[in-house]
Amino acid sequence: MSKAVVVTGLIKRYGSLAAVDDISFAVTEGEVFGLLGPNGAGKTTTVEMIEGLRKPDSGSIIVNGIDAVRQPARLKEIIGVQLQSTTLHDQMKVREVIELFGSYYSKALPADELLAEVSMSEKHNSYIRSLSGGQKQRVALALALVNDPQVLFLDEPTTGLDPQARHNVWGSIDKLKKQGKTIILTTHYMEEAEVLCDRVGIMDFGKIIAMGPSAQLVNEAGFDSAIEFSCQAEQSGLIIDKLKEISRIIRGNGTYTVFTNKPSATMLEIASLADKNNIILTGLMLKQANLEDLFLSLTGRHLRD
Ligand code: ATP
Repeated sequence: MSKAVVVTGLIKRYGSLAAVDDISFAVTEGEVFGLLGPNGAGKTTTVEMIEGLRKPDSGSIIVNGIDAVRQPARLKEIIGVQLQSTTLHDQMKVREVIELFGSYYSKALPADELLAEVSMSEKHNSYIRSLSGGQKQRVALALALVNDPQVLFLDEPTTGLDPQARHNVWGSIDKLKKQGKTIILTTHYMEEAEVLCDRVGIMDFGKIIAMGPSAQLVNEAGFDSAIEFSCQAEQSGLIIDKLKEISRIIRGNGTYTVFTNKPSATMLEIASLADKNNIILTGLMLKQANLEDLFLSLTGRHLRD
């Protein structure tokens, strides 16, 4: 597979602060790559340099063979950038905004096609100001697609949205992924990165501190899984005291969490001990470790501090 984006030795300083501190990564054609990190980690600065909007102090950026630093006009024709909804024209109608943006390019997709793409066809005649946050975000996505870009950049596409609207935007992004678009997105929601991205680069203080598929990064870190189960408190000993290979236990009142690196075996053990002792389990749930646990173990801080 050929590389859509190749970033090498990228550095950007603001005064004495290295906002982006010598990072290198490549994104394969058709891949969804996520830059994940807490506020101020350097995600926006990184993508804006790749989009040709900010000049790096050093390093090179090649997007589908185009030098992003030296050829910004050529770059603009082949990339799509999702703008934050606040920058949309409130007093214009949805279709008008899409047509206006299309006029900025030498080649633009028809508005109807774009509206259908983001499931906004029925709102084509609505004023931007009358749309919900999630609908504005979907219009912003349509605008990013107006020139049928080869590489799409989404900067925190669901920040500030409620869970329902977030899932709608995820649906639109997933559709684009299935069409084979290369997508680079930034987010500080680890769930978003886990759901949407083929690979993530975790940023902190301007550096990429881990990179790879989410599940692989978490697996390689070797965290124990947590299994939560509930039963009557006086019966819990009949299960807990017999469990093999658990590393830790948290006792609540009737709810217990055990940690293990053999989650399937421990789940079975809990179920069979309950069965043998006629204990009714009112809950049994496996919680796998996630990117949040990985970030915490790498930095000692939570992603959303
Ligand atoms: P967020 O999730 O909050 O958007 P981010 O990871 O995108 O954060 P950046 O916006 O890239 O982070 O900022 C990285 C660092 O660079 C921050 O410390 C920020 O304050 C600083 N910074 C960003 N832009 C400028 C600027 N134009 N002038 C000075 N400092 C800046």
